[in-house]
Amino acid sequence: MQPIIQSKLPHVGTTIFTVMSVLANEHKAINLGQGFPDYPMNSALTDLVNAAMKKGQNQYVHMNGLPLLRERLAEKINSLYSAAVDPETDITVTPGGTYAIYTALTAVLQPGDEVIVFEPAYDSYIPNIEINGGVPVLIPMTYPKNPGDSYRIDWNKVKDRITPKTRLIMLNTPHNPTGSVLDESDIEQLRSIVKDSGIFILSDEVYEHLIFDGKKHESILRYPDLLERSFVCFSFGKVYHCTGWKMGYCVAPAALMKEFRKVHQFNCFTCNSPIQYALAEFLLQKEQYLELGSFLQQKRDRFGDLMRQTRFRALPSYGSYFQLYSYSGISDENEKDFAIRLTREYGVATIPTSAFYKNGEDNRVLRFCFSKEDRTLEAAAERLIKL
Ligand code: PMP
Repeated sequence: MQPIIQSKLPHVGTTIFTVMSVLANEHKAINLGQGFPDYPMNSALTDLVNAAMKKGQNQYVHMNGLPLLRERLAEKINSLYSAAVDPETDITVTPGGTYAIYTALTAVLQPGDEVIVFEPAYDSYIPNIEINGGVPVLIPMTYPKNPGDSYRIDWNKVKDRITPKTRLIMLNTPHNPTGSVLDESDIEQLRSIVKDSGIFILSDEVYEHLIFDGKKHESILRYPDLLERSFVCFSFGKVYHCTGWKMGYCVAPAALMKEFRKVHQFNCFTCNSPIQYALAEFLLQKEQYLELGSFLQQKRDRFGDLMRQTRFRALPSYGSYFQLYSYSGISDENEKDFAIRLTREYGVATIPTSAFYKNGEDNRVLRFCFSKEDRTLEAAAERLIKL
């Protein structure tokens, strides 16, 4: 008799990102679906990795991350967010941001714990909660009604959904897929909700530098009273145009990080060494991350100009790699069917926003990734104009 697995994630299939990328390849479509740059990363960084490898920096480094890399990260955090973070106890280097999120949830959650998740939500959150026996409490963000509005969190709805079992609130700013960003009033509301509670915060800030129009990144790291209950997760892939490297880190106060590291120790133990040596060096070049926002804002604007010649309607994006476009003036089809048809018939792959909702909420909105070469964006728009 063959053993049969009783699935821990019975409702999970292949993610829409894989489905759309496979479809894009099949139809030789321009892939504006999955979030990755198609332009080269900085060769100074790949040179540093090569040099580290050649110098023999190829063996395990400290399980919490190369000490020099953690020190440089602490310096960066201190200079950007005025946060005093101890590299010894408060930072752990991880194989990517997704892993950091999973590890934090695994460290915190007990079966039956409720976790507040705002939808649309990055697709790893809900399975990460469920595999740990947690219960996702889904709160839809408010769909933008007026031009210039972006998706918002309705904090009154959050207050209504808090119960004695609420264990953690998940945040993501700048936000994938909507491109919205939290502002100071969001932080104030969050503060009033968690104050005097036992609620943790997990803040996914992988797009910290991809922020536009002069907005300020409202990192949890800026707020000591919030940081004391938070895990804050980052990704080097998004900062240095190397999503395939899968390198990131988590910042949390020592007591929380202690539990995070217990999970990390027996799952990954330690991450890629030469890349950590290289990143520690490259972090000294501050302009590499400080100029990222304006670089991507230009891409957003270039794509926006091109898309104005189509019948798609832009919803504002203030951060991330992404912009949502409504096609309600073009078709009544549901998002998935429309995205598939767009790939097959017009040769442009996107992601249906319904994929970021558990119940598949469908507002006739697609997510476009604009972190692409200008010629890629131009070629895509040329095809979309035909719609
Ligand atoms: N969070 C969000 C919101 C993301 O969009 C991504 C990348 N797609 C991640 C986390 C994960 O980053 P990484 O590739 O470093 O795991």
